[in-house]
Amino acid sequence: MNTRVRFVNPELHFKRYGKEIMAALKDRLARGELILRDDVTNFEKNLATMCGTKYAVGVNSGFDAIFLSLEAAGVGRGDEVITVAHTFLATIAAIVKLGATPVLVDVGEDWNMDVALVQKAITPRTKAIIPVHLNGRMCDMTALMKTAKKHKLLVIEDACQSLTATCDRKKAGSFGLTGCFSFYPFKILGAFGEAGAVVTNDAKLRDKLILLRYHGVDRTPERKIHTYGWNAVLDNIQAVILNAKLPHFSEWIKRRKQIAAMYTKSLKKTEGLKLPYFPDKRFTDIYQNYVIQTPRRDELRTFLTKKGVETLISWPTPLHKYPQLGLHASLPKTEQASREVLSLPLYPELADKEVAYVIDSVKSYFARS
Ligand SMILES: *Cc1c(COP(=O)(O)O)cnc(C)c1O
Repeated sequence: MNTRVRFVNPELHFKRYGKEIMAALKDRLARGELILRDDVTNFEKNLATMCGTKYAVGVNSGFDAIFLSLEAAGVGRGDEVITVAHTFLATIAAIVKLGATPVLVDVGEDWNMDVALVQKAITPRTKAIIPVHLNGRMCDMTALMKTAKKHKLLVIEDACQSLTATCDRKKAGSFGLTGCFSFYPFKILGAFGEAGAVVTNDAKLRDKLILLRYHGVDRTPERKIHTYGWNAVLDNIQAVILNAKLPHFSEWIKRRKQIAAMYTKSLKKTEGLKLPYFPDKRFTDIYQNYVIQTPRRDELRTFLTKKGVETLISWPTPLHKYPQLGLHASLPKTEQASREVLSLPLYPELADKEVAYVIDSVKSYFARS
């Protein structure tokens, strides 16, 4: 059966926005603006403004944003970092790579960290907490920051899926010591390759990140070496692309919310199907993903594939079940989510009639069984 609705469509995205992006690229390439030029600085300014923070530092990926945040904050061997297992590998890999120990707590109804469980996970070795704002919805940061302050813990936000989402009117990434972003092509703001950034209000931390992202070299005329490390700078060419896309960002969010509302309106009466609809005025969600949950997830997915509807499972194996990471935890809600969640297609280029086709397909699965 032919694919009728794709899960992502980078070709169509390029068709719509490619002309202006290519014009900007041609200009910079013709002028040899390749490494750490004004485009990176401008993007950093734009991003900090969007997040309501003083600074942003462009890096090579979301992983680098998390890893370098932890390193700049002094997290290392012997430290415990509280986070979740229902997340992308990068969140936990960054902790493990630094020799620190991830301590995992379970998720709540919205598949985000259940912040009420954090208190119990704190030990004398706890140094930091990494909340993950999954699918375009934030964790309850107001509550989490209270716990963190009380126990003097650092907070590094994994905001890779939630650029401009809010909790109590504050943006994702602006609560903690740092907020980490990824501009992987299929994030809401996507580069044409790998890219990421850290936002922060802390000037000292910003300065450390600037050193850490490029071999610890101070780029002033003296070029003193403060530390050594690796190269994780945000590519100038990717920054050109990101800046060119930014003027469209708010219209993309609007369209995402519109599509999410169409799904919710038409599917909310479906028996046995949980939708990502959490009416709570404290939060604004930006719908990086539209995640549904049902115990018959695998059968539904096979049915949708036969209908030509592409879907995605994030993630079929929770991270505490990866032998490579050597983690142990009992996380019943996380394990249930890994068995039951499914993301439906949602991106600004999706046409109304494609959304309608997905809705009809989901409905016909539940009607026939
Ligand atoms: C995308 C993502 C990352 C990191 O992404 P990179 O591929 O390293 O840019 C980290 N955490 C979450 C939750 C993500 O979705």
